[in-house]
Amino acid sequence: MTQNKRTFSLELFPPQTPEGAAKLRAARARMATLKPRFFSVTFGAGGSTRDRTLETVLEIQREGYQAAPHLSCIGSTRESIRSILEQYRANGIRHLVALRGDLPSGMARPGAFRYANELVEFIRAETGDCFHIEVAAYPEYHPQAKNPQDDLQSFKRKLDAGANSAITQYFYNFDAYAHFIDECQAIGIDLPIVPGIMPIASYSSLARFSDTCGAEIPRWIRKKLESYGDDSASIRAFGLDVVTGLCERLLANGAPGLHFYTLNQDALTAALWQRLRLS
Ligand SMILES: Cc1cc2nc3c(=O)[nH]c(=O)nc-3n(C[C@H](O)[C@H](O)[C@H](O)COP(=O)(O)OP(=O)(O)OC[C@H]3O[C@@H](n4cnc5c(N)ncnc54)[C@H](O)[C@@H]3O)c2cc1C
Repeated sequence: MTQNKRTFSLELFPPQTPEGAAKLRAARARMATLKPRFFSVTFGAGGSTRDRTLETVLEIQREGYQAAPHLSCIGSTRESIRSILEQYRANGIRHLVALRGDLPSGMARPGAFRYANELVEFIRAETGDCFHIEVAAYPEYHPQAKNPQDDLQSFKRKLDAGANSAITQYFYNFDAYAHFIDECQAIGIDLPIVPGIMPIASYSSLARFSDTCGAEIPRWIRKKLESYGDDSASIRAFGLDVVTGLCERLLANGAPGLHFYTLNQDALTAALWQRLRLS
């Protein structure tokens, strides 16, 4: 597969304040020089960022870049999802990342959708082929999955419901991705499954977040990062080496692209991009 056919994309989250928006605008201008295929923009639990996700996506479009809003369904009514889809459609958005999401603490009612495959079905029923739909994949399995086999079947249901491709949760273990792809192929899944890549900027927040989302930081990486304490320059330098090596291995083994979780920071992603010669 040639580099040109691969999809290299960047994920942003919608800023909360005017200062955050200005910072993101500046970071995005630098990221745009990398020429990503698209910018995706996350959607807060229970629709909490609905307006800010739309604003950010429209701003990206006005700047002349492709934008893909995330859309999570848990806690939502059919009517609210329908109206978001209408807004996106009316504004020329043609690419979505469809998710279940997680119920915000204190919100007890799951709403009209239980799982992401029901959202994908709904989007297809309401809008036909209007959108390219991405869904989430979990090479190290979703933390709430009953077992790996059920999780794989749940993933297949999302693709069978009409998703076009998938982006994975981040991982640092190449073998987990390779095994997951083998398992997918064995049950007839041949759609692109793009690895999600998390650059390493700090240790404590990464460790906390990884515990919650079920992404493993292998022991040798954890130990090394721990040993650097507050030395953030060493953490970033080591992290860059680890993540560059992972990306090189993924691309050498046929990964259909890379999706970078930028956390709205451009420096580490740009450094990875340059090391990997992606543009
Ligand atoms: C690329 C990516 C982007 C993300 N973006 C966001 C975002 O913008 N906003 C946000 O809030 N979160 C986001 N998340 C996190 C995601 O919302 C959570 O991981 C959430 O817990 C699961 O969402 P899902 O779409 O994978 O759910 P699902 O695919 O519905 O799966 C959720 C769980 O239910 C199980 N399951 C699925 N179907 C069934 C069934 N029929 N019966 C029994 N069990 C079933 C699965 O095995 C899994 O354990 C993102 C995750 C990824 C990987």
